[in-house]
Amino acid sequence: MKYCSNCATEIEIKIPQGDNLPRHTCPDCDSIFYVNPKVVAGCLPVFEDKVLLCKRAIEPRLGYWTLPAGFMELGESTEEAALRETMEEANAKVDLISLYTLTSITHVSQVQFIYLANLPEPKFSTSNESLEVRLFSESEIPWDELAFPTVKNALYHYFEDRKKGVYPLREIILTGNQ
Ligand code: ZN
Repeated sequence: MKYCSNCATEIEIKIPQGDNLPRHTCPDCDSIFYVNPKVVAGCLPVFEDKVLLCKRAIEPRLGYWTLPAGFMELGESTEEAALRETMEEANAKVDLISLYTLTSITHVSQVQFIYLANLPEPKFSTSNESLEVRLFSESEIPWDELAFPTVKNALYHYFEDRKKGVYPLREIILTGNQ
């Protein structure tokens, strides 16, 4: 940001008194504008032995396959955001089972919550955000055409965990150096 949203004075970047990091601050009205990580929530929807993926219709990673997920809106819970994103991107109504992967992506300051979810019936369709939506069995997963490492991680763990029938929460840190 360049100007104070409170009084329109030009913003300065400085360490406020009592703080230890540079912040966007207003030299006139003393407002401090904190910039914090963004939160993404989504689902890994499962129908019988298949998982639901969406082919992205928007950048970044247009044309690559992803799980339905997106940025939280103000006032939402992570669960509500995951359900909303699944409806928006795949027109699919799912039941959340449990939180499955919790990923800190430090180089882009993002936190992602992916829920394991049950798709009760194979009802879904494309949307403004998805060129194609379909179910994949394990052998059909397009591993080289997945949009993000978080999608790859969630699918990898899911197919491993399915062999044992238990789906523990995975806490993952991505630093951009992988
Ligand atoms: Zn100001």
